[in-house]
Amino acid sequence: MSDAYDLVVIGGGPAGYVAAIRAAQLGMKTAVVEGRGALGGTCLNVGCIPSKAMLQSSHHYEMADKEFAHHGIDVSGLKVNLKTMLARKDKVVEGLTGGIEMLMKKNKVDYIKGWGKIDAVGKVSVKPLEGKAKAQVLDTANILIATGSEVTPLPGVEIDEKQIVSSTGALALPKVPKTMAVIGAGVIGLELGSVWRRLGSEVTVVEFLDVALPGMDGEVSKHAQRILTKQGLTFKMKTKVTGAKAGKDGVTLTMEPRDAKDSGGKAETLKVDVVLVAIGRRPFTEGLGLKEVGVEVGDRGFIPVDADYQTNVEGIYAIGDVIGGAMLAHKAEDEGVVCAEIMAGQTGHIDYGAIPGIVYTHPEIAAVGKTEEQLKEAGIAYNKGKFPFTANSRARCNDDTDGFVKILADATTDKVLGCHIIGPQAGDLIQEVVNVMEFEGSAEDIARICHGHPGLPESVKEAALGVAGRAIHI
Ligand code: FAD
Ligand code: NAD
Repeated sequence: MSDAYDLVVIGGGPAGYVAAIRAAQLGMKTAVVEGRGALGGTCLNVGCIPSKAMLQSSHHYEMADKEFAHHGIDVSGLKVNLKTMLARKDKVVEGLTGGIEMLMKKNKVDYIKGWGKIDAVGKVSVKPLEGKAKAQVLDTANILIATGSEVTPLPGVEIDEKQIVSSTGALALPKVPKTMAVIGAGVIGLELGSVWRRLGSEVTVVEFLDVALPGMDGEVSKHAQRILTKQGLTFKMKTKVTGAKAGKDGVTLTMEPRDAKDSGGKAETLKVDVVLVAIGRRPFTEGLGLKEVGVEVGDRGFIPVDADYQTNVEGIYAIGDVIGGAMLAHKAEDEGVVCAEIMAGQTGHIDYGAIPGIVYTHPEIAAVGKTEEQLKEAGIAYNKGKFPFTANSRARCNDDTDGFVKILADATTDKVLGCHIIGPQAGDLIQEVVNVMEFEGSAEDIARICHGHPGLPESVKEAALGVAGRAIHI
């Protein structure tokens, strides 16, 4: 009997649904199995999209509250209607997840609602969402695991999604908390901490390390912490949270200095209305049957794969958050495309050195390639061009001048090795440098390309000119 499917994808997030579409485009009979009742995964349902919707709404409010008057626009009676704000966010999510369902139909991908389990090579059983319905068994030539990730728990701090929340609960708080503690000064902590601060919370960010956004270029993360502090976030660095107790009148967080020598090593408590746990995410493989079928799992739960995204078991592949690397939607999507193409007999690869990372605070923070710290550690000689937004005419018109663009290029060849931006629309500006890096271009390439005036991208050009010490506008 021939296999019913060429490919069954388990998980309908950015990795899984994109792989399914590409596989279908290449003529493979494909099904995608998703257990949450909606396509789009973490990203569309409880991640990228709802967080960016709330960041935009809260930014509008902050602008109206703090910046409009300066532009000669007087507003009175301004207030937050949180119910409407949350409903708008939900509508954006609904529209986009519904859109993915339409894309499945358009591409003739079967969308099977339920939790998938690998029974054997070439066999996936699906436990339907409705309790009494019978499990369905799918025969398939290939299986693709795209089951994503979940919140990393913190021992002693039990998430109830009401008073002690993960990012999911923090995207649906029914009222603005007076006070909030965020554990972890990473991407989620700074994005969602900013949302609730803008809406009126007093937010304290507690971080284990001595830097916010660890892994980012040091100069950028320091600048980010300075700007966010000026905006009103309080940072408590080098601090270890040891427990949290939720009660009727709030949550008591207990903490101690990470290093005993700091502030005498004394433990302290912080009483807040809501605690957000944002200390990272871990791979999600529960109930998949990996052990039974012999799929290896690494130390921290990630699934190891070879260059073709195949696990140690032939015919079983894995992509996205579940295989580790940057836990980003665009990385997961690209793996979806390349993996489907490889299964269809084509070749493909991803340049993991040219994947942008963006933090959607205001100003935005964006990075691609190597940081200065990494280049120094690797002993690579580089030149640096840096241009502040205060010297960019468009940023001045917009009254949005915090931050800078930094480009790092090889000292001998001028090849662009990295770019780090903190400033207005940094997330859009970085793309130009990503493109140049993909083509192995030089700083001079960027510097000689005409950039529209007055535009924020002119800052990227000036930073590129700065690599050779010949910026014009500074
Ligand atoms: P997921 O999106 O996690 O999808 C996996 C899917 O598999 C889930 O829907 C799950 O229900 C399903 N599943 C799991 N097991 C089974 C099973 N056995 N059977 C059936 N279905 C199963 N990234 C960005 O690039 N930009 C951002 O702005 C951004 N913002 C974020 C904000 C937040 C608050 C969070 C939490 C994450 C954010 N991310 C962002 C990260 C991004 O969401 C992830 O990197 C991305 O979703 C990973 O895609 P994936 O398909 O690998 O996994
Ligand atoms: P993260 O890895 O970005 O940050 C976690 C932070 O928590 C780090 O600064 C870490 O040092 C700190 N930490 C860890 N343990 C701690 C402890 N016990 N006490 C105090 N601090 C502690 O993780 P995240 O912010 O939870 O985000 C999870 C993932 O989601 C990330 O990998 C990120 O890529 C992705 N994400 C991306 C975006 C985006 O692209 N804009 C937005 C949100 C989330």
